[in-house]
Parts: sequence; structure tokens; C-alpha cells
Amino acid sequence: ETITVQELANRMAARGGEVVKTLFRMGVMATLTQTIDADTAELVVTEMGHRPKRVAESDVELGLEGAPDTEAELQPRPPVVTIMGHVDHGKTSLLDALRQTDVAAHEAGGITQHIGAYQIELPSGGKVTFIDTPGHEAFTAMRARGASVTDMVVLVVAADDGVMPQTVEAIRHARAANVPLIVAINKIDKPGVRPDRVRQELLQHEVVVESLGGETQEVEVSATQRINLDKLLEAILLQAEILDLRANPNRPAEGTVIESKLDRGRGPVATVLVQRGTLRQGDIVVAGTEWGRVRAMLDDRGRQIKEAPPSLPVEILGLSGVPAAGEHCIVVPDEARAREISEYRQRRAREKAALAAGAGRGTLNEMLARIQAGEQKEVAVVVKADVQGSVEAIVATLGKLGNEEVKVRVLHGAVGQITESDVQLAKASNAVIVAFNVRATAQARELAQREGVEIRYYSIIYEVADDIEKLVKGRLAPVQ
Ligand code: GDP
Repeated sequence: ETITVQELANRMAARGGEVVKTLFRMGVMATLTQTIDADTAELVVTEMGHRPKRVAESDVELGLEGAPDTEAELQPRPPVVTIMGHVDHGKTSLLDALRQTDVAAHEAGGITQHIGAYQIELPSGGKVTFIDTPGHEAFTAMRARGASVTDMVVLVVAADDGVMPQTVEAIRHARAANVPLIVAINKIDKPGVRPDRVRQELLQHEVVVESLGGETQEVEVSATQRINLDKLLEAILLQAEILDLRANPNRPAEGTVIESKLDRGRGPVATVLVQRGTLRQGDIVVAGTEWGRVRAMLDDRGRQIKEAPPSLPVEILGLSGVPAAGEHCIVVPDEARAREISEYRQRRAREKAALAAGAGRGTLNEMLARIQAGEQKEVAVVVKADVQGSVEAIVATLGKLGNEEVKVRVLHGAVGQITESDVQLAKASNAVIVAFNVRATAQARELAQREGVEIRYYSIIYEVADDIEKLVKGRLAPVQ
């Protein structure tokens, strides 16, 4: 009772790569030519929004329902924005100030609730969703689970302090995620501040703002004095237009868990950001390995709502347990199917955990399978070395590698030992870490082992080049 991934894709009239990707999200590593069992096939089919039909024990046939969205079905959706920046540069203040700009902010009953994200409506009628857990930890944690919820990052830089370590880290994370930046130069109300210095400092990190001839929008703001908030919102909407953000609201919902908790009175509560379709009260959802019927939905003002369109964050009640942030959430036709998917995911999670515990090499195997499937177009690498000269030499060498199908991309190159932050960055971007004449800290090693991030140690540059070249071709053996 098996079917090849390619054959399954053909029957769904879907791209092979999409099926491979969906399998990955479910924790199954398979290339196009590999076979999967009928249970797995059925789950992939459901995950991709089709209705599976097994005609015979040995066969899986699919209905046409839930075919990929057509161009005509896609409608504009509000942008989803994450605010990042160095500590004390004003992320929280800015989130608060922006929230106050909501046209309905003054209405009765509008008591704001922290649910992990909120949406505001502008006087123009435009809407913007903000993830209100500032900082890059949440962003990275979600990306590590394969979730991408953020369309753009607002990088807050305090004009009186300038570019600081966490500013640089935020730039790195946004870049690794291929998410555009908008720079908000904050605290311009303070006497004697020099916003131009911020622009110059950003240049050193290859962020070129528009006033210096670059493509990154910048806005001078004051969160506490509420200066230029409208300009910042305009910049966000402009960026959204450039990105042409669209989704089909007329289909069963799909989204990502942003935050979750066990509430004493209400039981498991999860904030879901709807990314596709419309989520309705009464829908049966599976979120990670948890499932349930949506008993109630609440918005960020604690108001009960019946429907949530794309880009709206909503708190849902009724799940069987608490799903982790970053988990994929999908509406299914009935409880039997929900139970089936949940059980399947639990089994997979156990198998994956066992595998990761046995040998910390999950990332590399996934990467190899994707490269072989022609699905991965890029090999991401984090380089750490003992001296700057080696960093530069390795980065230059790696820059020349790659072929038509697969490019090599250095996410980060620096001097020093491997730290937990390097491992997190690698994990979030599915990257390999190259350690040249340096070691990893004990914590970093342990984290890498746990997360299945591959750290490879070298002392000869051409061996680095050799290995990465093999990786590009999908032919590298993991370190045992
Ligand atoms: P976060 O750590 O990035 O979230 O920063 P906060 O929002 O907590 O702000 C840190 C400090 O900077 C607080 O004391 C804020 O009142 C202050 N602050 C934030 N924005 C501004 C601003 O626009 N102007 C001035 N003068 N102070 C600000």
C-alpha cells in the first residue's frame, strides 16, 4: 500500500515540490522518487486541502475539492508586522502607540487583551496586524518550526543610542527570513539626537535607507510623543502593496499558532493567525497534535467573533490541549479526520524525537532530501573562524560555489567560538555551521545535538569548499 511522492503529486495536479514541502511540515522526509504509505498519503492530501479518496486498499484517489487557489480567488489581505530592535529602543512603546491609532480604540468595550498579536484599522480603512511579542526570540522560534507569519519587520533604532548588538541581530534574522525591513528611528523628540548617525551606522550593515539612495524605507518617529506614527503606518501599507499580499478568504482556514496557554477557567487557549481561508466558530481544527471544535473565538479586545478572515489574529477556545507557538493549524471536515491527523502527528513527533535523540543530524538529512528533490534552491551556511582572515577567505570561497539549481548563501560570518545564538540562527534557517579552527561552547553543542543542527569542524579551507560543494549536489554524509 504505497505510492511515490511524484505520483501522488500528479494525481493532485500539484507540484512535486509542494508535496515534499508539506511532508516536511508533517515531519516526513521523502524525495520525489521515494514511496510513502497510504496513511501518510492521505494525510498529505488533507493537509494540502484536498479530499482524499481511497478507491482500493492499494490506491489513493483525490477529489478536486480544495484545489490550489486560483488567481481570481486571491484577495488583498492586511500585512503582518513584527517589531524588532535593541532592548530599550522603544519596541513596546511603539506597539502601544500604534495600537492607540486604531479607529475603534475609543469605542466602548474596547479593553485590550494581550493575545500575542493585534490588528488595527486606519482612518483610510486599511488594516495592519502586529505581532506584539517584540524581539527576535519569538520570530526565530516560529521560523525554527517552519512557520513564517511575518511579512515585514519594523526595525526600531533609538536615535540617542544608535545601532547596537541586538539591532544587528535583528537585521540578520530579517535577512535570513527574506523579510523586508522598515527602519523606525525612534526617540527623535529627545534633544540633541542625531538620526543621521543612525542612517550611517546602518550602512555598515548593508541597510541602505531611501534618503541615502537605498531601498529601505525609513521614518523618524517618537513613540512616546506620538510623532510620525501615521507616516510609519503609511510606509507599512506601501511595503504591503509592493509585496502584493493576497489570500483566498473563501475556503477552510489555515494558519499558525502565535501564542498559547492553559487558562484555569477556559482551558487550553491558543491565538491563531489566520493565513488562508476564513476561520469560523464551530469549525473543527487541528493545531499541531491538538484538535477540537472552536467553541468560541475572541479578538484582541476580548470581543466574541464568529468569523476570522486572513491576517486576523484570534484566540480560540475548545482545543484538546495547548499547541506550541509556531504550530500549523488547519480546519478539517470532521472529528474523525481531526483525530486521525492528530494521532498521526503524535506518532511522527515521537519518531522524530527518537531520531533526533539518536543522532543529531536532522537538519542535514532534511536539507539533503530537499536538494535531491530539487526543492531546495539554496544552501545556507553560518561561518565561525579563529581569525578574520579565515572568515573572509571562507566566505569568498563559498560565494563561488553553487550551480544553476542550488546557490550557497552565507548567513553570518564572524570570528569566535560557536554559541547558542549561532545554533538558533542555523536552526531557524536550516543552515549548516562551519567551524574553522574554533570549537562550540558546551551549551551550543548540546543545543545543536537537541535541535539536529549540523556543526562541521575544519582546519583546511579547501575541505570546507569540498564539503559544501558535495552538499550543493545533495551528496554529503552527515557527521556521525
Ligand atoms: P523596548 O525594550 O524596546 O520594548 O523599549 P521600551 O518601549 O520599554 O522603551 C524603553 C524606554 O524608552 C522607556 O522608558 C520609554 O518610555 C522610552 N521611550 C520609548 N520611546 C520613546 C520616545 O519616542 N521618546 C522618548 N523620549 N523616550 C522613549
